[in-house]
Amino acid sequence: MNRKSCFAAVMILAGVMGFVQTATAQAKLSVHWEELTGPDFVKAIQQAQGTCILPIGILEKHGPHMPIGSDLLNARYVALHAADQQYAVVFPEYYFGQIAEARQEPGTVSYSRELQLALMQATTDEMGRNGCRKILIVNGHGGNNHLLPYFAQTQLEKPHDYVVYVFDQRVPPSGGPAKKTTNDQHAGESETSKMLIVRPDLVHMDRAKNESGDDQHRLNLPEGVYTGIWWYARFPDHYAGDGSVANKELGEYQVKWWVDAVSKALAAIKADDESLRLQREFFERSAHPLDTPQ
Ligand SMILES: [Zn+2]
Repeated sequence: MNRKSCFAAVMILAGVMGFVQTATAQAKLSVHWEELTGPDFVKAIQQAQGTCILPIGILEKHGPHMPIGSDLLNARYVALHAADQQYAVVFPEYYFGQIAEARQEPGTVSYSRELQLALMQATTDEMGRNGCRKILIVNGHGGNNHLLPYFAQTQLEKPHDYVVYVFDQRVPPSGGPAKKTTNDQHAGESETSKMLIVRPDLVHMDRAKNESGDDQHRLNLPEGVYTGIWWYARFPDHYAGDGSVANKELGEYQVKWWVDAVSKALAAIKADDESLRLQREFFERSAHPLDTPQ
C-alpha cells in the first residue's frame, strides 16, 4: 500500500469506528428508571423484555462504622451492575421494608406492616402497569427475609399480569478468601467488606471496634420457638459480627459473586415464560374452583 492509499484506508476505518461508536451511544439506554426519557422508557422496557429490578434496602444503624443506608447502597450497586450485563430497568431508591427490631437506634425508619405491604404492592402494581411483566426484587436487608417471600406468595391472592421474583442471597454459599469470623451477620466481616468496594468513603474502619457485635445469648428457648425480640436479645447494639476484620479482597469476591448471581437470575427470568402462563391459568381457575378438574 502506498502512503496515499494507506492514509485513505485509515480515514475510512476511523469513519467506520466513529459510526459504530455513535450508534452504540445512541442504542445504549440507561438502566436507571429515573434517568430515561418517556420515549426511551418504552424502548428500555422492550430491550429488557419487560424485566425490571426493584432493589430493596432499609434505613437502620450498621454498627458504629457503616452508613445507615448500607443495605440499599449494596443492593443497588449489585442490581445496576447486573442490569448492565443483562439489560433490565432498575427502579429508584426504595427503603421501605421491615425493621421493627432496630427502632431503639438512631436513624432507623420503621414503617407499619400495613404500609410496608401496601407500598410494595402499589409499587409493583405501578411497575406492572408500566410494562414490567417480570419484577425481580433484589434484597439487601436481612430483616426483609420473611417479608419478601410472604409478599411474593400473596401475589396469588388476586389476578394481575406480572410475576414477582425474589433474590435474597448476599453472601456466596462457599468459596472465596477465608473468613476470620464465624459470627458474620449485620455490619460484620462480609457486609463491611462489600461496602469497602461499593462506597469505601463511607466506611470508618477505625470505629468498627467502638461497640461489640458479639452474641449476648440473653434468651434461652428451645430450637423451633420463634419470638420477635430474639435479635435484640442477642445483638442489642444492632451489630452482629466484627467489621474490623473486613478487607477489600473479600469484598471484591463477594460483590462479584452477587452481581454474577443476579445477572444469571435475570437471564433465567427473561427465559421463563412458564410462571406468567401458569399464573394466568391459576387465576382463571381460582375464579371458579368448582370447574377445576378433580
Ligand atoms: Zn445491612
